[in-house]
Amino acid sequence: MEVSAEPYKCEICNYMTFVKKNLTWHNSCEPHLSRAKNLKPTALSIFNEIKNLTNEELKKLLKYMEESNFITK
Ligand SMILES: [Zn+2]
Repeated sequence: MEVSAEPYKCEICNYMTFVKKNLTWHNSCEPHLSRAKNLKPTALSIFNEIKNLTNEELKKLLKYMEESNFITK
């Protein structure tokens, strides 16, 4: 059995396990699949995307947010 020091996580369901096999199983279970299908962006998923942006993309995003009054000063 493969056991990791870092837990395997499903961020869609907040499911966490230390056994890789369990996550593989989880990823194919019915509740997970229906959640994944109906997934709407959450604060966490948005945050994770922002983390992956380049500085240039981030600047554009901030400008867009400012222009659309997403950020209120
Ligand atoms: Zn899941």
